[in-house]
Amino acid sequence: MADYQLFIDGAFTDAASGETFATYNPGTGQKLADLPKAGRDDAIRAIEAARKAFDEGPWPKMSGAERAAKLRRIVELINQHSAELAELEALDSGGTILKAQMADVPGAVSAFEWFARMAEERPDRVDLEGSPFPVSQNYIRYEPIGVCTGIIPWNFPLIMAAWKIAPALAAGNTSVLKPASLTSLSALKLAQIIAEADLPPGVVNILAGPGGTVGEELASNPLVDKTAFTGSTEVGRRIMQLASGTVKAVTLELGGKSANIVLDDADLDLAAAGVLWGTFFHGGQVCESGTRALVQRGIYDEFISLLVEKANNIVVGDQMEMTTNIGPLVSRGQVETVERYVKLGRDEVGEPLCGGGAPDNLPDHLDKGAFYRPTIFADVDNKAKIAQEEIFGPVLCVIPFDTDDEAVAIANDSIYGLAGGVQSGNIERAEAVAARMRTGTVWINDYHLISPERPFGGYKQSGIGRELGTQGYDIYRQVKHVHINPETSGRDNHFHYGVLGV
Ligand code: NAP
Ligand code: MG
Repeated sequence: MADYQLFIDGAFTDAASGETFATYNPGTGQKLADLPKAGRDDAIRAIEAARKAFDEGPWPKMSGAERAAKLRRIVELINQHSAELAELEALDSGGTILKAQMADVPGAVSAFEWFARMAEERPDRVDLEGSPFPVSQNYIRYEPIGVCTGIIPWNFPLIMAAWKIAPALAAGNTSVLKPASLTSLSALKLAQIIAEADLPPGVVNILAGPGGTVGEELASNPLVDKTAFTGSTEVGRRIMQLASGTVKAVTLELGGKSANIVLDDADLDLAAAGVLWGTFFHGGQVCESGTRALVQRGIYDEFISLLVEKANNIVVGDQMEMTTNIGPLVSRGQVETVERYVKLGRDEVGEPLCGGGAPDNLPDHLDKGAFYRPTIFADVDNKAKIAQEEIFGPVLCVIPFDTDDEAVAIANDSIYGLAGGVQSGNIERAEAVAARMRTGTVWINDYHLISPERPFGGYKQSGIGRELGTQGYDIYRQVKHVHINPETSGRDNHFHYGVLGV
């Protein structure tokens, strides 16, 4: 028996096959719950329910204000369950309980709040001035797209679920969501919360199950109109192929290898803290992490010693302790990936200045945990594999540069273009550098601050489209141009028909 159920067509259910899979706390290795393992048939049933809810149900026909009221009810319910949600998220993903309380739950809440506001404030109809045609009246109707599927990764499970469900619902679409298999708990809990908000059946469907079956169905099924995917660039390419069969709309939020540029006029103490925060928050398992620190040569040696001194103070341990700065990585598998890259770094670059393994002072109950220390490689060539490939763990490459032009060139020498940072005492100079970085976000004297109120997404192989902001609402709407010729009889305003001689 599974401890949670799938949410399909307004009802809770086991997988059709009856299969289950277990989910674990990556800090202790303890099993947390057995989850229903959906298959293709469950995915098809969920998609059909979402199709019916869109084609025949009330949701897309409701006013923005009515939908906003339902989203605000979800906010109320999330707030009522916030302690439980935060605990589940931290236990299942390895992120710290502090992050879960300060970022994950409030982040999900603010996404539902923002898109409720969008539903109320963004007009459904915009009248267009003038007429490029013979006398006519033209306007734009913004309409929902239809059935929207979401496929999300394991690093911010609850926030990612909210980023997919909230804008889809706000704009009048119906939704089917698949969380990552390593971290499906909070999404299944969210399903229970959404059920309490009493939306029409089929408007939201949530399924735990493998990417290879459930995920592929969500990206390829002909009844789906749009797929939004967050995850690796490799799987993103596959999603585009699958969606191309019926030319679905696609939004992709993919990998990154972001550069955090430290100019020689920066406050070194602040910039060192900014670089560490930008890299090691959540163990580096953040797509926009600034995992390449580009440091100007005049301040290089001093900056490196500050970095290492501060990095050694970061506490790695039990994610449920409030004093822990970094919990375990999401899985032993993720530790193995990091170990592979650190070995490669030792061959390519030499010994890291700190880290390079698990902490050696962990208590007994954590000795099977997926822990890894903040690891810093200095004097890295940007062409090295560890500077080009996304590691998705606590590994920082420090790369020296001489001029601002060179910093920009190195920052842009990447297949990715998700984000970046510039740390400087001179905002004008920092802005000039930021303007030349080919990324979807640049933080000046800061890092990692993301809000539903501001657009987020990538250039180059970091993705297509923007989530969040007004852009992230409009991307869930179709644009219909309506043209009215006011002449209901006669030909004075229909002379173009004459081209055909009719
Ligand atoms: P992943 O392997 O790409 O998986 C992401 C999601 O896709 C999971 O739900 C996965 O399901 C599913 N999936 C896997 N294969 C699939 C397929 N063939 N068809 C459809 N769905 C499939 O990524 P991850 O390992 O979970 O996360 C790490 C990566 O995500 C990193 O590269 C990181 O940069 C990226 N990421 C990007 C952002 C962003 O906003 N740009 C945010 C977070 C993470 P299973 O879990 O069942 O395999
Ligand atoms: Mg994966």
